[in-house]
Amino acid sequence: AGGKYDYDLLIIGCGVGGHGAALHAVESGLKVAVVEGHDIGGTCVNRGCVPSKALLAASGRVRDMKNTMHLKSMGIQVDNVRYDRQPIADHANNLAASIQGNLKRSLEAIGVDILIGQAKLTGPNTVKYSLPGRVDVGGTVTAGDIMIATGSVPFVPPGIPIDGKTVFTSDHALKLEWVPDWVAIIGSGYIGLEFSDVYTALGSEVTFIEAVDNLMPGFDKEIARLAQRVLINPRKIDWHTGVLASKVTPGVPGVKPVEIELTDFKTKEVVDKLEVDACLVATGRAPYTQGLNLASVGAEVDRRGFVPVNERMQVLDTKGKVVPHLYCIGDANGKYMLAHAASAQGISAVENICERPHVLNHASVPAACFTHPEVSFVGMTEEAAREAAEKAGYGDKVSISKTSFKANSKALAEGEGDGMAKMIYRRDTGEILGVHIFGLHAADLIHEASNAISMGSSIGDIKFNVHAHPTLSEVLDELFKQAHVEGIPDI
Ligand code: FAD
Repeated sequence: AGGKYDYDLLIIGCGVGGHGAALHAVESGLKVAVVEGHDIGGTCVNRGCVPSKALLAASGRVRDMKNTMHLKSMGIQVDNVRYDRQPIADHANNLAASIQGNLKRSLEAIGVDILIGQAKLTGPNTVKYSLPGRVDVGGTVTAGDIMIATGSVPFVPPGIPIDGKTVFTSDHALKLEWVPDWVAIIGSGYIGLEFSDVYTALGSEVTFIEAVDNLMPGFDKEIARLAQRVLINPRKIDWHTGVLASKVTPGVPGVKPVEIELTDFKTKEVVDKLEVDACLVATGRAPYTQGLNLASVGAEVDRRGFVPVNERMQVLDTKGKVVPHLYCIGDANGKYMLAHAASAQGISAVENICERPHVLNHASVPAACFTHPEVSFVGMTEEAAREAAEKAGYGDKVSISKTSFKANSKALAEGEGDGMAKMIYRRDTGEILGVHIFGLHAADLIHEASNAISMGSSIGDIKFNVHAHPTLSEVLDELFKQAHVEGIPDI
């Protein structure tokens, strides 16, 4: 810092977004501090991506062993498969703690000051922080630039009481304190789906309660239909769609069931009542932005609590003008609520702070759901792409190519032929509008498509690329080769 402020950059919140930004800022020569009110690593490391993937890894192995048909076809016999719940829970929690430690050490090693406390703005360039019940921490610091990276918390619809034991959110479910015989999951987005994978592998029955008329809203409809045939129908899962859980009464584990009243989403009439052992509320995430005191710089959060930003991650005031030297990244701005988007936005914001203008191309940011098999996508769904193309006047140029994992030797060798990949593209220009994959290691496979979109490659640029055989990557190779682009030879 040039002496005028305590720091060049102060980051409020040290989840993956704040952490990535801090590392990049130090690399760029800035003097940096982070203020964190809870745990370094935020949601992703402590209550999100990391523990959920650890639970999915362990429960996925249980599922594999129990799937005797699959193993028998390869001549493998596994009898009396059993698991112990506590070591699985420990695997998830210990991994989170260990990664949290790594992140903290990585900041300390490069001289980032870690301030402990809940922070709020008190005016341009100034932040006050404190922690209730701790007189030893707190203070006021100044910085040339300030970045809000405060993330999100589970969104719980009004009228659903969370007791943390029988009615709970992902925050509690990740601790795996028990495996209920029957669990209702409200919401069939990626968090609900991943937990249905964990619970059914560990022996629970699952009932989805979904407000929209189909399961897996937000995913490409065709991919969702296929995924449902594999992830939902053959497992101990049933569902109610087009309904709201309008009243939920917590129970007592092993003694009294949870009561859930379902009302029709449209008519609001009570249509059913369920009694289950537990209820996981997976109805999305809400920004964690209250108490930031944005008013002190002339800004305010939007109707849903997100901090408004422009494409350079600069905070906008109530008149839509840039608030100088104030940025917001990650879940708190609501642009793309995923861990890798948060860190990419953090890096992008640091570029802008260092006067190297940068705009992140959100159209190339992939998303994944880590069920067995996985679902991933980048860009638009077919429905969204067709709508956008109609509006832009090239509706008749939208084409689709598809390929099945059943045509992929590696997938078949693994006994994992369930799955498909689908690409939506423009047949006049070869532009890739969206790619969706359901199948083995879909979350890893999507990056070839996301890199192509980020580099602005057309199908013509990549159609003649060569992929090793036999690999799952040939699923994408096949997808590109099957596309018919005007002026490019078919293969
Ligand atoms: P966060 O990680 O939420 O961090 C924000 C930090 O700011 C927190 O530590 C908080 O304590 C701190 N903070 C907040 N307010 C203040 C304040 N006023 N002062 C000081 N500190 C403050 N994403 C993926 O990409 N892949 C996945 O597989 C994935 N799985 C998930 C599974 C689950 C169950 C959940 C819940 C989420 C998952 N996510 C996943 C989403 C991912 O966790 C978030 O997108 C990501 O954590 C957002 O990062 P962030 O830095 O914006 O915020």
